[in-house]
Amino acid sequence: MNCYPQSLARLMEVLAKLPGVGPKTAQRLAFFILEQGKNGATEFSDALLDVAAKITTCPVCFNIAEEGHCALCEDLSRDDTMICVVESARDIIPMEKSGSFKGRYHVLGGLISPMEGIGPRELHMKELLKRLEDGVVQEVIMATGANVEGEATALYLADLLKPLVPKITRIAQGMPVGGDLEYIDEITLAKALTGRREF
Ligand SMILES: [Zn+2]
Repeated sequence: MNCYPQSLARLMEVLAKLPGVGPKTAQRLAFFILEQGKNGATEFSDALLDVAAKITTCPVCFNIAEEGHCALCEDLSRDDTMICVVESARDIIPMEKSGSFKGRYHVLGGLISPMEGIGPRELHMKELLKRLEDGVVQEVIMATGANVEGEATALYLADLLKPLVPKITRIAQGMPVGGDLEYIDEITLAKALTGRREF
């Protein structure tokens, strides 16, 4: 039996869906929001609605964007001759924090996973091939995670890109096996980038 009013129970249920949040934390967060009063709660809900309404994906690299192209694609100071391929937009954050990559990005939107029914067609690979057509890009860096899917995707894509780009590399050194990019500290990631090897 639930001892909370329905609306509060619903808030707890929603909060418990957040990663790393169990029922106890959800309860604590719900009471925290409740204690903020109407203004505090509105601030939360407005921020959520704002994100839901405004955030889209960049039509070029599939990073998150507010309108039109993302900030990284719009930045004229970045190096157009390099593209770093990542699994998700989340992976761009640690790359940027590492400060050792100044090129462009391409977000695949997942990894090849036959178990989950994700093949190359479900990912933004076609769009990457298109970006290489004009011959400006000289190097594509595969920065997918060091797990089975990450390796398989990097290999598949490297084969596909070979005729289109002079150099294809893979970040490796210092990457913990099974490591997701988002959990790797910036120094390790910077080293992984510097020590990238050619396919
Ligand atoms: Zn973009």
